[in-house]
Amino acid sequence: MKNLKELEVWFVTGSQHLYGEEVLKKVAEHSQEITSSMDAAKQIPVRVIFKPVVKSPEEIYQVCLDANTSKNCIGIIAWMHTFSPAKMWIGGLKILQKPLLHLHTQFNRDIPWSEIDMNFMNLNQSAHGDREFGFMMSRMRKRRKVVVGYWQDEKVLDKIDVWARAAAGWHDWQEAKFVRFGDNMRYVAVTEGDKVEAELKFGYSVNTHGIGDLVKVINEVSDAEIDKLCKIYANEYKLVDSLKKGATKYSSLREAAKIEIGLRNFLQQNNFKGFTDTFEDLHGLVQLPGIAVQRLMNEGYGFGAEGDWKTAALVRAMKVMATGLKGGNSFMEDYTYHFDPDNPMVLGAHMLEICESIADHKPFCEIHPLGIGGKADPVRLVFNVTGGAALNASVIDMGNRFRLLVNKVEAVKPKHALPNLPVARVLWKPLPDMQTGCAAWILAGGAHHTCYSQNLTAEHLEDFADIAGVEYVLIDKKTDIYQFKNELRWNEVYYQLHKS
Ligand code: MN
Repeated sequence: MKNLKELEVWFVTGSQHLYGEEVLKKVAEHSQEITSSMDAAKQIPVRVIFKPVVKSPEEIYQVCLDANTSKNCIGIIAWMHTFSPAKMWIGGLKILQKPLLHLHTQFNRDIPWSEIDMNFMNLNQSAHGDREFGFMMSRMRKRRKVVVGYWQDEKVLDKIDVWARAAAGWHDWQEAKFVRFGDNMRYVAVTEGDKVEAELKFGYSVNTHGIGDLVKVINEVSDAEIDKLCKIYANEYKLVDSLKKGATKYSSLREAAKIEIGLRNFLQQNNFKGFTDTFEDLHGLVQLPGIAVQRLMNEGYGFGAEGDWKTAALVRAMKVMATGLKGGNSFMEDYTYHFDPDNPMVLGAHMLEICESIADHKPFCEIHPLGIGGKADPVRLVFNVTGGAALNASVIDMGNRFRLLVNKVEAVKPKHALPNLPVARVLWKPLPDMQTGCAAWILAGGAHHTCYSQNLTAEHLEDFADIAGVEYVLIDKKTDIYQFKNELRWNEVYYQLHKS
């Protein structure tokens, strides 16, 4: 995954000419100090760039225009050190297309009790200057994140970090291309959706290539490249004996390597950020891609099985958001339940395709038959996943809108060896409890496919949904079914009225 330091957020301070040169000079100095401090802060994953203080409708319009067309600018942090009459902001805010964070801070943390005078008061006016700005954004129904507190406070920096990561995920989606090899799994509903609407709303495009296009690239892979990758497999994983060089299934490992190299070449040559496949359309492929998908996800590609392009795009965005954080993000499926009343939990897995970024040990590389798909036995990585706080996220198409659904879960360290289950797997307990969590998920229409995250919080996804302008529904420890059903009903009315 690329370094997020290539990306910028612009720090824009609003004021007006009323204050005179001396005060405006001070405002600029203070803004520069805040900007440099944030740019250097270890919490902030992107660059924070100072922009000259804006004092007129023309200057505000221009900085918004520049932000829209800048390739590296992923959003604006706005702050009113002094009072900036907000009618000046209408033109700029109207055209601003980049995410917006309103930082409600003050240059001085404390009131200097013995020295405070009207000069101090006139300079440190954000307490009311930011309210004027806030009114205009509310009046314009402008989506933004509001962060309140002293600019050096760790909690403030953490919130800016979360928003910057969401903005980076959003930036990555704009003009992104995802490819589907084959169509949707026959008759499946939740993986379907309106790709035209998704492109309008989310900025990424989804297009299909016949599996033959991929097979052609796979067949161009050389023996030398395959040898090299098989050595990497042997170094990075615990290969079962049958897959070792010269053993009975070594040719299957070579076939898996060939698929991985071809798939990566295809994605790179066409600039795709993620892909889907389906076991119902594998013409010319010897195995259903297993280890190939697992390793490509680990490199940052989005993936969705059975044609699930919405999940592929979500996995990609979440991987970008989580760049540099400990832990991983993976395509996931709620597979099987453990309904022990004293210890209920979900076993999450897929036929093969779970990302090794969430593994808690060196994965085993194994080969087993797969009853579905009618192809040769696929090679896959098998591993367990550790316990701790995590979440599942799902994007569904409700017909008149997209819904981003998040369920916080508590992952459980596995106690059993599962010797006959040859896939990567995770155990978790949905919050607030199994009954409520699963009922709420089903009431909200959440998919069986998700992106499972160990290192993003619900706040990352909430900010992301806000930036995207889509419905966001959270299931967490506070969820109560009666209120949850009301929330879904009220959202239904809201989205009938709110069309943009
Ligand atoms: Mn599936």
